[in-house]
Amino acid sequence: MNQVDYLRISLIDRCNFRCQYCMPEEAELNYILRQDLLTHEEIITLLETVFIPLGFRKFRLTGGEPLLRPGVVELVKDIASLSATEDLSMTTNGYLLASLAEDLYKAGLKRINISLDSLNSETFNSIIGRPKSNLWQHTWLGIKTAYEVGFDPLKLNVVVIPGVNEKEIEPLAELSINRNWHIRFIEFMPIGNGDLFNDKAWIPSEEIRETIRQKWGLIESNIKGNGPADIFQIPGAKGTLGFISQMSECFCDRCNRMRLSADGLLRPCLLNETGQIDLKTLLRNNVKTTEIKDKVAQILAIKPEINYKERDSGNNTGNYGRTMSQIGG
Ligand code: SAM
Ligand code: SF4
Repeated sequence: MNQVDYLRISLIDRCNFRCQYCMPEEAELNYILRQDLLTHEEIITLLETVFIPLGFRKFRLTGGEPLLRPGVVELVKDIASLSATEDLSMTTNGYLLASLAEDLYKAGLKRINISLDSLNSETFNSIIGRPKSNLWQHTWLGIKTAYEVGFDPLKLNVVVIPGVNEKEIEPLAELSINRNWHIRFIEFMPIGNGDLFNDKAWIPSEEIRETIRQKWGLIESNIKGNGPADIFQIPGAKGTLGFISQMSECFCDRCNRMRLSADGLLRPCLLNETGQIDLKTLLRNNVKTTEIKDKVAQILAIKPEINYKERDSGNNTGNYGRTMSQIGG
């Protein structure tokens, strides 16, 4: 069994974008109240007294949009300076990177994934629910700034949706040829916008690979990630292409992660709530951190059974209780 050593920490459930597949404008989201967000100190306490003693060494900050969290740079600095931290990364929509990339890099963040579903500003602005804005230009500037300040490799996440951005597969893949950029194609999942999702609303990774293979050829890469992506390369390219195939493939046996929501719910599996623990309430009720650690250890021990629960129940078309932005994607 995989060592579970990777924690995705959601810093906030709010977002400045309204991606159709994640948190569309019309969705009624009950945002977490400010007083219910884990505080900076609570996050550090949980890492120091619960997760690090249990062997967690890799941390990814996410959201909602993590850069909207007040004090995000200081939090990065404090997590990066914990001696047990081996890897600290972030997933962001990139909008605030033009102003924050340098400070984040200096604070100790070394790896970043930026979501970019299209190189066409009109398509992009429509996907993120902000047509007629200049958000594409701003996001692109954020990506370039992150690269210039030293985030290397830089990863771009693309959710491919038929009829929306499937024509972008080639231009996005092409970005990996002359730059050490890793483009990761993610299969659209039935989580978040249930209305948008149906059997035909996602494209299997193999179809995406075939489109790329026809144009340039495609080889398996020697570079291995530590996550669920299968890594390939266009022959001779500087960067790579990753495929995250949670719909067409089951990688539960490779799962090395848990998720902590912005309001302190620890979730062992993205797709179901079994085993979820409310760490914030335990902390605020002054439960001893050694007891909290024991509870998390018990869940870690049964994580493999939990991982397969949703798959085994055949529920892969439903709409789950929380959106990606609420769980911490
Ligand atoms: N706001 C940040 C961003 O967009 O990168 C971080 C949070 S977002 C929830 C994390 C990732 O989840 C993004 O790459 C996004 O594209 C992906 N995501 C959101 N909803 C999804 C869905 N239904 N299926 C697949 N990926 C999804
Ligand atoms: Fe915001 Fe990220 Fe969700 Fe888009 S995918 S709405 S940027 S949280």
